[in-house]
Amino acid sequence: MYEKELESGLSAVKKSMKIISLIQDELTGKDSFSKLDRSPVTIADFVSQAIVCTVLKKGENSIDIVAEEDSSQLRGNEDLVNKIFYFLKKSGLNEIINSKDMLYRGIDFGNGEVSNKFYTLDPIDGTRGFLRGDQYAVALALIEGFEVKLGILGCPNLSRENGGTIYFAIRGNGAYKLISNEKTEIKVSDIKNFSDMRFVQSFEKSHSDSDLQYIIAKELGIKAEPVKVDSQVKYGLLAEGKAEIYLRIPNPRTPNYREKIWDHAAGSVIVEEAGGIVSDILGSKLDFSKGSELDNNKGILSSIPFAYDEVLKVIKSHINETDK
Ligand code: AMP
Ligand code: MG
Repeated sequence: MYEKELESGLSAVKKSMKIISLIQDELTGKDSFSKLDRSPVTIADFVSQAIVCTVLKKGENSIDIVAEEDSSQLRGNEDLVNKIFYFLKKSGLNEIINSKDMLYRGIDFGNGEVSNKFYTLDPIDGTRGFLRGDQYAVALALIEGFEVKLGILGCPNLSRENGGTIYFAIRGNGAYKLISNEKTEIKVSDIKNFSDMRFVQSFEKSHSDSDLQYIIAKELGIKAEPVKVDSQVKYGLLAEGKAEIYLRIPNPRTPNYREKIWDHAAGSVIVEEAGGIVSDILGSKLDFSKGSELDNNKGILSSIPFAYDEVLKVIKSHINETDK
């Protein structure tokens, strides 16, 4: 099951990776601007969403797509639209999108509804990493019955010299990575002592409570400094045994922030299929039934099974009774 969706999803994500890495190479600061929430949006976010959604919607596919962007901020901005067409031509993807209408329609294919079966897409997860020239990911997941069934993470800057890394998993079928079309099964690490484990966390300090995470890491006996990486690349690293614990404790400065489904759906199924555990920081399963946000969850805890109970215990000892 989901083999066909995997095939079209991989084709869509590969095309997006091609054009967005071209854009990252040529990007200048003026191609980004602020949305109301001040997260930078680039032409790459728009074109990635347009390409992925257009490829997914080809043929008979009527499954809704719930994606991060919509075309309203792009419409009428001729400079940005022209740049997008420059890159579409340069990457040969103007065969897929060859008019402004197709571009806007492609982006807005992503304005679907959360329902019994839908895709969720973050066209560029880790936009800030993208702008810095660091890690970012194209994150696509298929959710059915409010359970993630398929996850694909395209990571153009991981093993970049080989054209990037794609992680993927179909629930029940294991997790894999693809580098230069070579497929390898991946598993989480089996390290059994905390002193050798590695934390992975957001590069952006404001996206989590890095002070508390530091304290927790010390209490667990972890020696290494946390690896700071943008985007769901963190889940990929955990899934392939390059890190053991991913913590995302909400930053006390943004207590009302809720995690978005497209920031965790793809990564979570990949880690689970690689043998890891994903929950929120209180141990609850991620609840994908609440719309575009994980309203029933608080932060993220993902780890290898050996570490999970102990990490949860230490987190709980630091969280106020009222927050539990
Ligand atoms: P990461 O690089 O793992 O921090 O992931 C980037 C994602 O963080 C973006 O896609 C945002 O949706 C999300 N984000 C933005 N603001 C916050 C916040 N205050 N707390 C947690 N996540 C956030
Ligand atoms: Mg994101």
